[in-house]
Amino acid sequence: MILYPKAYLEKVEQITIEFLQKNKIKALILDVDNTLIDCNRNLSNKVVEWAKNLKQQGVKLYILSNTNHKDKVEEVAKALDIGYQNLAKKPFKSGFLKVEKILKEKPENIGVVGDQIFTDVIRWKSL
Ligand SMILES: [Mg+2]
Repeated sequence: MILYPKAYLEKVEQITIEFLQKNKIKALILDVDNTLIDCNRNLSNKVVEWAKNLKQQGVKLYILSNTNHKDKVEEVAKALDIGYQNLAKKPFKSGFLKVEKILKEKPENIGVVGDQIFTDVIRWKSL
């Protein structure tokens, strides 16, 4: 099982289409808190643009969050025009497996993006 991230980046905007193509990533499962929004709940225009560009390039995006604040996650999902699920109980597998089915991509083609290594980044299938 891989317990470490494949890449450390400061901001989600640093995830480029070139990086994703190189790593055969066709879809991203995204965390919300301190990943898409900052600690003040701000969603920057840069993140909105980033998501829009990746989607235009055919990358599927989906939000998976542990928060019980549905309104907060819904607001971000609407702004980015992507699907979401809150109360995900990460790092348990169930939420990831559900999103894997929605995304219709193989696990090796799905990237998980988040700020917490033991909830977001841990792989849901042993390698
Ligand atoms: Mg987070």
